[in-house]
Amino acid sequence: MEPSSTVKIAADGDVILVVGPKAMKLRVHSLFLKAASKPFSAMFGPDWKEGDEMTGRDGPVELPLPEDNAAAMKLICAIIHHRNEGIPSTLPALNVLEIAVTADKYDCVDALKFASHTWLRPDEHDMSDLMLLAASAYLFRNAQAFKEITKAMILTHSGPYLALSCEEVESAMSWKVFCHLEEARSSARLQLAEILLEGVNDSTVSCCHRCGWSSKYAYAYLKSLKEQHLWPTHLYRTSISEVLESAEKMPDPVPTEDSGPCTYSYKHCTPEYRRNRRWSLDRLNNSIGLCLHCVRSGRASASSCQVTH
Ligand SMILES: [Zn+2]
Ligand SMILES: [Zn+2]
Repeated sequence: MEPSSTVKIAADGDVILVVGPKAMKLRVHSLFLKAASKPFSAMFGPDWKEGDEMTGRDGPVELPLPEDNAAAMKLICAIIHHRNEGIPSTLPALNVLEIAVTADKYDCVDALKFASHTWLRPDEHDMSDLMLLAASAYLFRNAQAFKEITKAMILTHSGPYLALSCEEVESAMSWKVFCHLEEARSSARLQLAEILLEGVNDSTVSCCHRCGWSSKYAYAYLKSLKEQHLWPTHLYRTSISEVLESAEKMPDPVPTEDSGPCTYSYKHCTPEYRRNRRWSLDRLNNSIGLCLHCVRSGRASASSCQVTH
């Protein structure tokens, strides 16, 4: 007699998976598991001892999986059996990682591609959760989600990434991802500093007749960077999204001193620093986020990546 505590993912399934230390029982079809997962396919293959005995048996065969996560396996089986009514559209980040670890172990991440997509959205998560989601996207081989999650981490975190590490993340994802995150954020900060300082050389303000028109604007611009806390050294203590926001809001400076007389003063233009740097800031913002293909292949250069950056 089958105990009532068995979760009937398939009421007439031929196998009962007995999962985790508390032995949760999941009744499933071996055929569905075989189709979605190579390890299950091998397990239920011709050499499967219990399988041989199945022919002519009345009840399902039990397969103990004591080391696996029961809740994760339950969801994976529900997805593989197209039982979508039991699949939540949002899940805590740690649960997503547990599912990713189990799906990776049983080589069935492809079968979970669409379900995992909604769990991997980076919005409304704190930084530690984003690290768990990054590790999940890494295991699910979801390059788009990995880029979006790491982008959120690079933009909004100002402390060290290593502080967000935990056992679950370290066992799921290469430690090199921490280095990639630090490197990507340093590079983005350097590019930000360059874009902001470039304003000094704004070509629309230049007058080559030594009248002081260009330098009075350059001086006012530098002063305004300092006042708005956008001086390069300050960028290392601030998150990139805060810097982008300040740079977007910073008004164009008004010089306080006069420039000298100039024969060509009719050619003088008032610079529009804010408008002129917007394109560069947008371009930088769009380029942020790690490429999963590069990270997984261990390539140092994006030029040899399988996708165009
Ligand atoms: Zn001039
Ligand atoms: Zn790449």
